[in-house]
Amino acid sequence: MRNNIVVFGKGGIGKSTISANLSTVYARQGLKVLHIGCDPKHDSTLGLVDGGLIETFMEKYSRVFGVRDRAQLKPGDLLVRGRLGIDCVEAGGPEPGVGCAGRGISLMLEALQDLGMLESGGYDARIFDVLGDVVCGGFAAPLRKGFAEKIVIVVSEEMMALYAANNIAKSVKTYASNGVYLAGLVANLKDGVEGRERIERFASILGTRVLEYVPRDAAVREAEYARERTVVERSPNSAFVRSLESLAKKLLAVRREDCPIPKPMDDRRFYADW
Ligand code: ADP
Ligand code: MG
Repeated sequence: MRNNIVVFGKGGIGKSTISANLSTVYARQGLKVLHIGCDPKHDSTLGLVDGGLIETFMEKYSRVFGVRDRAQLKPGDLLVRGRLGIDCVEAGGPEPGVGCAGRGISLMLEALQDLGMLESGGYDARIFDVLGDVVCGGFAAPLRKGFAEKIVIVVSEEMMALYAANNIAKSVKTYASNGVYLAGLVANLKDGVEGRERIERFASILGTRVLEYVPRDAAVREAEYARERTVVERSPNSAFVRSLESLAKKLLAVRREDCPIPKPMDDRRFYADW
């Protein structure tokens, strides 16, 4: 099993926070981790490496790879080694308003695949952090290309977060024959416990489950303001980190046979019910 874990969800929902801390939990347990930022915002690895934002795949692409045969690329050309030995890469994207962000994601994934890093490369877990409120082939690339495995959708109780989750579930259903499955939802609620019943109902309509309720925790913002440290490193005993340790364990244990193909709603039903 490859443990290719793909974290989807609408912008601002907490994907990068959750995926970077998940990578850190695994690395601290001694697993060899590859962390792949697939959001043009390219801040997924910010907390994982010293020295601020790393050069993105797209920046390197125009600077280096353009003049070099892709077949000659080596993993070291693409990766930045983070703290705890986490290997990091960020797709990046074009300047806002120019070009297609999805294309950068597809190019990066193809390059990683050419190097065998999405199948083997000595990794025990790969964490993909993918924007999911855009209907775009590029963002579905990890599903389409057949190396994604365990899909996690981060949601809150807000309608647009659930709308995005419903759309992502449609993509998971479309690409189920590629071995992709919906491991479950992660509820990162805005209002503590208020939205729980709503999320549970949403999960049961989709035929999935809530893997974990992640608490709102001031330790998250403290780590963010301090820069260059994950919550796991700064506040290992916080409620947030406890929930991520629990999530990390469940994600390693989850099996495809426990995860039915999701049953997303069509848009009319979604808007009528939600
Ligand atoms: P995304 O990657 O989905 O766009 P981020 O991970 O960047 O979202 O999170 C958006 C903002 O919400 C960040 O400022 C982050 O610190 C904050 N945040 C996310 N989850 C929590 C939480 N559980 N508790 C407190 N703040 C959080
Ligand atoms: Mg992000």
